[in-house]
Amino acid sequence: MKNKAVFFDRDKTIILPNNNNYIYRVGDFYIPDEYIEALKNLNESGYMLFVVTNQGRVAKGYLTEQDVHDVHNYLDQFFKENGIEFKEFAYCPHNPDGNVEPYNIVCSCRKPKSEMIEQLIDKYQIDAYCSWMIGDSKKDIIAGNSSGLKTILVETGYFNSFDEADFVEKDISFAAKRILGFKS
Ligand SMILES: [Zn+2]
Repeated sequence: MKNKAVFFDRDKTIILPNNNNYIYRVGDFYIPDEYIEALKNLNESGYMLFVVTNQGRVAKGYLTEQDVHDVHNYLDQFFKENGIEFKEFAYCPHNPDGNVEPYNIVCSCRKPKSEMIEQLIDKYQIDAYCSWMIGDSKKDIIAGNSSGLKTILVETGYFNSFDEADFVEKDISFAAKRILGFKS
């Protein structure tokens, strides 16, 4: 039997920036209590949870891959303490507009490309039709659609509408309710 999953964008989706700045390191973000409840509800309903995040600012020299790992180790620990299991925190460190080698390349993992999602779908034997992508940007929705996932745009970033998203919700708390009440 195949698994069902929810893929999340990271910044401005499951973690929100302090002071409306970019998120580079532990200390740059917070997680509302209702987000923890939402993630726990999805997990307890049998959804595998994944993060798929573009961290192209590695290629621009604003942070290192170690900084990315530090944030993900922190999140992994924090979520575990709250009874939530994320299977993997996948990230793309590339950006062709960067100046830091070897990251300044055109890759196949940077969203809106779908390789990060599709590798996880294969690895964890996920049924895309029963699975979801949630993110705050159009790139997330395009990547999710390309992978055969249902998609939800959350209004915690710059956009509050996008025709290609299956649904638009205020934040991941409402998105989780949408998923858990969904009848296909
Ligand atoms: Zn990449």
